[in-house]
Amino acid sequence: MDQMIDGFRRFRDNFFANNRALFDNLSQGQTPKVLLIGCSDSRVDPAIIFDAQPGEMFVLRNVANLIPPFAPDTSHHGTSAAVEFAVRGLKVEHIIVLGHARCGGVRALIEGSSNDNTDFIHSWMQIARSARDRALALTLSAGQPIEAARRMCEQETVAISLGNLMTFPWVREQVETGKLMLHGWFYDMEDGKLFRLDPVTNTFQEV
Ligand SMILES: [Zn+2]
Repeated sequence: MDQMIDGFRRFRDNFFANNRALFDNLSQGQTPKVLLIGCSDSRVDPAIIFDAQPGEMFVLRNVANLIPPFAPDTSHHGTSAAVEFAVRGLKVEHIIVLGHARCGGVRALIEGSSNDNTDFIHSWMQIARSARDRALALTLSAGQPIEAARRMCEQETVAISLGNLMTFPWVREQVETGKLMLHGWFYDMEDGKLFRLDPVTNTFQEV
């Protein structure tokens, strides 16, 4: 904890002190143009990866950067609430789903270990169940190692989240009227590379 308090003091004395005008402005409100949906993984910090300033991105992070299907009921939908606030409240113009390599959530899904003694993770990861089944079928039938299935599934989580975003009626409406654009990105922390999902070829292309 001392390390974190020390970190805050460095932030306050340097970044905060050197950007008073920015923080004065931001204290009046936020107008981010981007909703970034990423994984909670400590190695995949969107603000660092995109060198973003405070106020630039509305960030939603959860296990494996997943968006569930639209399900308006009385359960506590934290992820869907954040999407709703970004789209209907902040009126963001872009939603980026950022998948990443070496995702622990995907690893648990592929290996079946999310089923072991978890209260929430197994159920949550079922959002990507179809990606798991497809990745395992394709890679194993081709004689590829389990790592190939994991990578394929990591990238498929992005497509699944993009597809589920379109089940939210106010997302679909904004997309269809051209006010909102959806993007699928993938960050490879091993090589420090970023890939973009090409909607035409449905493949990831390096940026
Ligand atoms: Zn992850």
